[in-house]
Amino acid sequence: MEILRSPRELAEMRKAGLLVWQAHQRVVAMLRPGVTTAELDAEVDRFFAEHHAQPLFKGFPGAVPFPASTCISINEEVVHGIPGKRQLAEGDIVSVDTGCKLNGWCGDAAATYAVGRVAPEVRQLMDVAKNALSLAIALLDRCSRWSQVAAEMEAYVKKHRLSVVEAFVGHGIGREMHEDPQVPNFVGAQMRRGHGDFRLAPGLVIAIEPMVNIGTKRVRTKADHWTQVTADGRPSAHFEHTVALTENGPWVLTAGPNGETW
Ligand code: MG
Repeated sequence: MEILRSPRELAEMRKAGLLVWQAHQRVVAMLRPGVTTAELDAEVDRFFAEHHAQPLFKGFPGAVPFPASTCISINEEVVHGIPGKRQLAEGDIVSVDTGCKLNGWCGDAAATYAVGRVAPEVRQLMDVAKNALSLAIALLDRCSRWSQVAAEMEAYVKKHRLSVVEAFVGHGIGREMHEDPQVPNFVGAQMRRGHGDFRLAPGLVIAIEPMVNIGTKRVRTKADHWTQVTADGRPSAHFEHTVALTENGPWVLTAGPNGETW
């Protein structure tokens, strides 16, 4: 059952969300060919520590605990890439996902960035993934149930002959990073039968995170137990915001200081 948050609680979550936005800006300032993904991660880790926020990803349970404060996924890597010695190269796209907990409240956001100039089809992939997220945020106000939003996102992506990853979904967020409900970016057989659908009510806080592929929607896990790659090796993009529903419409809690979104 999803939890509805009070305006006062949302104001606390906004503080965590703003830090996540600012951590992303630190990464953006460092993006260039030659920088390693470990260097980007170290900057985010330092930033959260400076602000007395706990990184949510570090130590996240799995076959091996996740070892870093960010997931950094390059090109055909979809999500959950582990930062390391790999250097970014001109033409790469790099998905950075990070989250923190501040005063007991969580924020989580991801974006895919271009390193220099990227191929036109890759630029379009990034645009469609980002627009799918913007579309979902705009629709929160106009729809009464999540399945309606998910259907529009899925249709938008498919219209551009791209695919929506189904193996991973967004999530409720609040005191913990992953809370109910699950927030799929598509309408599956379950949801079509009414299972897992939820009402869009004021106080709901969800992390919406479309993952879009150029080729197949299928993914596989690499030997490091974490990194997800597309099954056909073609590029993937990922955008995420933590978003609250309020009486006055959607509130992007991981937006910039002036409400900027990806
Ligand atoms: Mg998330």
